[in-house]
Amino acid sequence: MSLFRNNVEAMTPYVPGEQPAPGERFIKLNTNENPYPPSSRVAEAIQAELEANGSRLRLYSDPVALEFRKAASESTGFPLDGILAGNGSDELLALVVRAVVEPGDVIAYPYPTYVLYETLAHAQGARVHEVEFPRDFSLPRELFGAAAKLVFIASPNSPSGTTYPASQLAALARSVPGAMVVVDEAYADFADENALDLARELPNVVVLRTLSKSYSLAGMRLGLLFGAPEVVAGIAKIKDSYNLDRLAIAAGAAALRDGATMRDNVGRIRRTRERLSEELRAMGFDVLPSSANFVFARLESAARARATYQALRDRKILVRYFDRPLLADGLRITVGTDEEISSLLAALREP
Ligand code: PMP
Repeated sequence: MSLFRNNVEAMTPYVPGEQPAPGERFIKLNTNENPYPPSSRVAEAIQAELEANGSRLRLYSDPVALEFRKAASESTGFPLDGILAGNGSDELLALVVRAVVEPGDVIAYPYPTYVLYETLAHAQGARVHEVEFPRDFSLPRELFGAAAKLVFIASPNSPSGTTYPASQLAALARSVPGAMVVVDEAYADFADENALDLARELPNVVVLRTLSKSYSLAGMRLGLLFGAPEVVAGIAKIKDSYNLDRLAIAAGAAALRDGATMRDNVGRIRRTRERLSEELRAMGFDVLPSSANFVFARLESAARARATYQALRDRKILVRYFDRPLLADGLRITVGTDEEISSLLAALREP
């Protein structure tokens, strides 16, 4: 007899991308981190929060993360009462599932996408309705009108890097009026357009953002949810009181108030992304057009993709390999610095 709920006993855990041990020297292109440092104001804000020997750390952090949310409201124009702060957007994804989905309810999403959606569904005892993307990763028709309680759509999607116009996402949300639609925009700052306005216009849409990618703060765990004030209030009911710590709140507010540094870094990454895509195509890879800070590059077979992943790893270059249907013939490569990408391309050219 197991001590666990049946669905927990049966589920496989989410496996995050490999994080090399401290001191191990890898070129790390496997978890979509930003290769450039965050705004220098972030470290200053953390230092300020640590004044007087960290004396402020005696006190709990702000349960509503007001400074961080204010900065998010300023930088997006979104009303403050429609913004919820999370310990990374992963926490916000989990909160939405817990707040909205009963065991046995259906969670729908296109496949392949961010694997955590499946993990969260199983943890909740929900049923999953995975709708396969076509090979070009356009939005599958079958998702429209899906009989689901919750629909996830990542735009840009991972690991494809493909993005979906706000008009399509609005049509999707209107086709499932009884479902909550989560537009996961973790990578939206690297794209030409986003769907943030839908979170104001449609009562069943929430948009998620993270500071992990474009703001170079994966290690601070900062996410944002945008939606109708009633939706935000409903989800907030079940969050931990102090889900963001003091240092994270200070860091997040400082980062958002220096959008210029973020946009510089994003600009560099987008230029490197175009170079990487072109050079991979010239080497024979099939590269999907990416609006994110990574590219998905397919080879002629799963065996070749796995061997290439391993050969790169042997040369101390980490990329992401997914041994899953529709993904096993490809590699997801995070856009690093130009120098890192030059090393990757040189390694790929070696016999
Ligand atoms: N959504 C997508 C699509 C992602 O790829 C990631 C990163 N793994 C996240 C959300 C979570 O980001 P974080 O929890 O770091 O904010």
